[in-house]
Amino acid sequence: MIRFISLDMDGTLVNSRFVDLVWMEGMPRMYAERQGLGFEEAKEYVVSEYMKIGSDRLEWYDMQYWLDRFGLKASKGELLSAYEDHVEPYPEVQEALELLSERFELVVTSNAAREFIDIELEGFHDYFRETFSATSDFREVKKSPLLYGAVCRALDARPFEVLHIGDHYDYDYESPLQAGLDALFLDRAGKRSGSEVVGDLREAVELICGCA
Ligand SMILES: [Mg+2]
Repeated sequence: MIRFISLDMDGTLVNSRFVDLVWMEGMPRMYAERQGLGFEEAKEYVVSEYMKIGSDRLEWYDMQYWLDRFGLKASKGELLSAYEDHVEPYPEVQEALELLSERFELVVTSNAAREFIDIELEGFHDYFRETFSATSDFREVKKSPLLYGAVCRALDARPFEVLHIGDHYDYDYESPLQAGLDALFLDRAGKRSGSEVVGDLREAVELICGCA
């Protein structure tokens, strides 16, 4: 019996535009200004520094680390709020959350840092009982089976009472299944098929409660 629906955030509720702008435009632009470089040159350097760290390390997700590393005085809030108008939820999100929240408790399980979650879910916070950040709350870079176990404990739920939905096959589908949760793989590109694959959240709602 499912009691909780856990949703990934980036690529599931919100597209990548905001995150891309913050990291690939905002950060390089500030670095360009500070160093007196052209934007493209600054971007090349900044991205090469990102790649030296890589997404397997916590620093990758840590905006303060990058501001410090590049010697930038701006606060995290300034950089994030400069682009907050570019947060773009997928079109069916509002309706899907409305329907799911009638029957289930909803949570978010994301690997984004807390400050990104706070901004990207602006307007949707009331739908969620809790939001979990793998990197900020659990100091984990990937959503491992252990992380899903920790989420279940935090909810005081048994794994089989939680269904997770997300757009990364390993971290949003295989991982929760390994932890004993139910899971749906959200494949917005429509490349996979199967009984637990959905193309958008409307399809997920149909599959879960037949009420879309
Ligand atoms: Mg995602």
